[in-house]
Amino acid sequence: MKAIALLSGGLDSTVSLAYALSQGYEVVPLTMHYGQRHSRELQSAKAVAKHYGLAHHVFIDLDLSSFRTSALISKDVDVPMKRDAAEIGNDIPVTYVPARNIIFLSIAAGLCESEGADAMFIGANAIDYSGYPDCRPDFFRAFERTLQVGTKAGVEGHAPTIEHPLLYLTKADIVRLGKKLNAPLELTWSCYSGGAKACGKCDSCLLRLKGFEEAGYKDPIDYEG
Ligand SMILES: [Zn+2]
Repeated sequence: MKAIALLSGGLDSTVSLAYALSQGYEVVPLTMHYGQRHSRELQSAKAVAKHYGLAHHVFIDLDLSSFRTSALISKDVDVPMKRDAAEIGNDIPVTYVPARNIIFLSIAAGLCESEGADAMFIGANAIDYSGYPDCRPDFFRAFERTLQVGTKAGVEGHAPTIEHPLLYLTKADIVRLGKKLNAPLELTWSCYSGGAKACGKCDSCLLRLKGFEEAGYKDPIDYEG
């Protein structure tokens, strides 16, 4: 069994990749460089792949800098800071990258066909999901159907499946699963800012810190202040 694992270098994608390995898949990590404001998480992705000895790590450059509305890409849009849990997930935040998972899964599907892989793993999460529409179960079901009708592998009856092992887990559950799988959580980077240390104030840092706290573990990475 072979799988493509989308690996951003964040907590969720690292645990998702660790899960794929635990299920016996031969894993090819796939990391996108899409014009993020900072490249800090790419270093984490490389470190995670190296940790697992996954030498065949695919990087794809995608210039999405024309997508001007996303705070993760445009320096003109500020990343929201210090929002409380009720605010996060209440709406679709400015950190939403237009159609990101549609784009990423399409590329992962192409790589699946190219590599002869059976599945693609994505660390999406519908519980503490920050309000992103392309992290919902409906989206993944619809996309699987798209792969069945829109790829050669699909027409031949073996479309790659979309595996989203974290979809129904809380952030605390994801931390617990990562610990259980002995995933290198200390190598991961979740912060939307690209400083030397994580900011501890953006939505991604706040969700991560809350997850570690609820799981009863100390987050092994450094935070500002
Ligand atoms: Zn942060």
